[in-house]
Amino acid sequence: MKSFDAVIVGAGFAGMSAALQIARANHTVCVIDAGLSRSRFSSRLHGIFGFDGDTPHGVIGRARAQLLEYPNVTFMDDSVVNTEGRDGNFSTILKTGQVVHSRKMILAFGVSDVLPNLPGLYERWGKSVLHYSHQQGCEFYDRRLGVLQTSPSSVQKALIVAEWGQVTLFLNGGVAPSPDCLDILAQRGVKVDPSMIGKLEGRGTELSTIVFMNEREVELDALYVSPQTKLNSTAAEMLGCEIEDGLCGPIVKVDEFHLTSVAGVYAVGDITGTSRNATDACAEGIRAGGSLHRALLCGLH
Ligand SMILES: Cc1cc2nc3c(=O)[nH]c(=O)nc-3n(C[C@H](O)[C@H](O)[C@H](O)COP(=O)(O)OP(=O)(O)OC[C@H]3O[C@@H](n4cnc5c(N)ncnc54)[C@H](O)[C@@H]3O)c2cc1C
Repeated sequence: MKSFDAVIVGAGFAGMSAALQIARANHTVCVIDAGLSRSRFSSRLHGIFGFDGDTPHGVIGRARAQLLEYPNVTFMDDSVVNTEGRDGNFSTILKTGQVVHSRKMILAFGVSDVLPNLPGLYERWGKSVLHYSHQQGCEFYDRRLGVLQTSPSSVQKALIVAEWGQVTLFLNGGVAPSPDCLDILAQRGVKVDPSMIGKLEGRGTELSTIVFMNEREVELDALYVSPQTKLNSTAAEMLGCEIEDGLCGPIVKVDEFHLTSVAGVYAVGDITGTSRNATDACAEGIRAGGSLHRALLCGLH
C-alpha cells in the first residue's frame, strides 16, 4: 500500500510549487499528473521571472527534475479517476488501477479552455489565437490584431489589446456593445466588425485571414479569445468540496490558506479562479504547501 503525507493531483505550476514546499519540510508527497498542462498549446511562455521565452515543456520538465532530487517525492504519470476519504485518511484511485493513500490532499488539476467552435481556431490556439495579452501580446506588437467577442468583457479586452496594435472587435453576429462602449472603443481607435465569421485561415499555425460567412475577408495576424473554462477533474466534487461560479466557469472555493470547504483538502492554481498565470499559480502552490505543512505538524494554519 502506497501511503504519503500529501497527494497532489496535478503537476503543473501550482501543484509542483506546493510539492516543493512539502518536500523541503521533509514530508512525503506523491504528485500525480495526466500530462495535460494548460499552456501546452503555446510554443513559448512569457512574463515568468527568470523563464521568459522558455518552452512550457522546458520549464515544467526542469521543475520536475529538481523535485525528483528529493527522496521523499514520488511522481506518478497517471490520471486520478476517483478520490474519497476525510482529513487524515484519503484514498485516490488512478486510471491504471493503482491506489494511493494520504493524510492530506492538494487539488491542482487545472482547467481546460472551451474554445469557440470556429473552423481554423483550435489548431492556432496558443500560437496566433491568443488568450493573455500580457503574456503573448509583445510578440505581435504593432501587428493587425482582433478580439473575438465572447462576453460583455470582450470590450474591455479590446481596449487593453489596443495597447499592442490596431484592433478590431469581431462581434461574430453577437449583440453590439452599448453606445457608450462604442464611443470608448472609437476613442481608443478600436474598429467594430459585426459580421459572422466563417473560418480562420493562414499558413500552418499562423493566422493571416478571417473569412466571413458572406465570403468577405479581413487580414489579421492574431486573434484574442477569452474562452469559458471547465475543471479538468471531478476530484473536488468527489471529495465534497464546494464549487462556485467564477468569471469564466466553475471554480473550487478556498479560504486564504487555500483550504477548501473540506478539512484536509487544499486547492491551488487556475481551479481557484484567483490564478491568472503561471506565476500566480506558483504563488498559490507555495502558500498552500506551507499551510498544509503547518496543519500536518500541529493542525494549525
Ligand atoms: C495558450 C495559453 C498560453 C499561456 N501562456 C502563458 C504564459 O506565457 N505565461 C504565463 O504565466 N501563463 C500562461 N498561461 C496561463 C498558464 O498556463 C496557467 O495559468 C497555469 O498553467 C496554471 O497552472 P496550474 O498548475 O493551475 O494548471 P496547469 O498548469 O494546467 O496544470 C494542471 C495539471 O493537472 C493535471 N491534471 C489534470 N487532470 C488530472 C487528473 N485527473 N489526474 C492527474 N492530473 C491531472 C494536468 O495534466 C496538468 O499538468 C497560458 C495559458 C494558455 C491557455
